[in-house]
Amino acid sequence: MSAVELLRSDLRDFAGYRSARSEKLQGEIWLNANESPWPNAADAGAVPSRRYPDPQPQPLREALARLYGCAPSQLLAGRGSDELIDILVRAACMPGQGAAVTTPPTFGMYDVCARLHGVRIVQAPLREQAGGFACDIDEVESAARASGARLVFLCSPNNPTGDAIPTDAVRELAGRLDGRALVVVDEAYQEFARTPSATTLLGACPNLLVLRTLSKAHALAGVRLGAVIGDATLIDVLRRCQAPYPLPSPCIDLALRALDDDAVRATRMHVETIVRERARLAAALAAAPGVQRVYPSAANFLLVRFEDAQAAFNRLLAAGVVVRDMRAQPGLADALRITVGSSGQNDRVVAALAEAGVPA
Ligand SMILES: *Cc1c(COP(=O)(O)O)cnc(C)c1O
Repeated sequence: MSAVELLRSDLRDFAGYRSARSEKLQGEIWLNANESPWPNAADAGAVPSRRYPDPQPQPLREALARLYGCAPSQLLAGRGSDELIDILVRAACMPGQGAAVTTPPTFGMYDVCARLHGVRIVQAPLREQAGGFACDIDEVESAARASGARLVFLCSPNNPTGDAIPTDAVRELAGRLDGRALVVVDEAYQEFARTPSATTLLGACPNLLVLRTLSKAHALAGVRLGAVIGDATLIDVLRRCQAPYPLPSPCIDLALRALDDDAVRATRMHVETIVRERARLAAALAAAPGVQRVYPSAANFLLVRFEDAQAAFNRLLAAGVVVRDMRAQPGLADALRITVGSSGQNDRVVAALAEAGVPA
């Protein structure tokens, strides 16, 4: 069975919108898309924005494919991984029907996109063990089988718990659900992990898809650029489900510059610094008053349980430090998520909490 058969049957031969840019025509004077002959007076961009952008610029696809170790045909770029999560839900599940599996506590967008599309979410919660949170692939498999879900969202490293799923476990799960469900591994924080990317399994697992983004390690959250990577025939169908011009020209331009060798080298150095700071901050927090538990993290944040999370949140806020309150998430009623910052920023976090231990 081809993985494309896991997508909605009514979309398999869907052509999508035929934009002016998608026709392979040659010419000197382009009068086919109702664009202006002049750039906007305020447009000083290296590439003026007066024309509609290429939906999937080949140089960008090639640069991303090189970065992520896949073929350009295996990659679809989108307006952040958020857009790609939405496309996956819409392309795999009929509106108002079907189900998708998630592993809470996890990233909220899987639920949001499923809900907007009328798709039921079936939960296979992470297990909390001595070593931290872990994905239970037996649980995920039975949830998918019992619900007939076409889509499984794994997140590795997981937001907000920080644990990464071993590559062998991903391979095992994708194998068990082959022909039943698409297994999506959201790797928004993979650069900070020391385990291999699930893209290394693509040859062995036709029903596997991997999400990557420039928002976190590459410091381009404002550019809104993400990618879904997988079997080329699947990617082709997903492309036809996407908006006609998903990537704005200035964003394409900046992303390309961020993917040249020098910029990527600088990004890797920042990642190394964050990984070092993560260990330092984790140790300092574990010793701070009022902290109950700091979870091991393969990402650029730490999940921390407090004796009094509200007091810790307030104490940090009073010191000008804003962290993410996780208390609404199942099983995290006493937890905050703290992004690893620069060393000076991390010192401020530790100092603010240390004061909490000093009697007034
Ligand atoms: C931040 C985050 C994203 C969002 O990525 P964009 O590319 O900015 O849309 C996706 N998945 C997870 C798990 C995240 O934490």
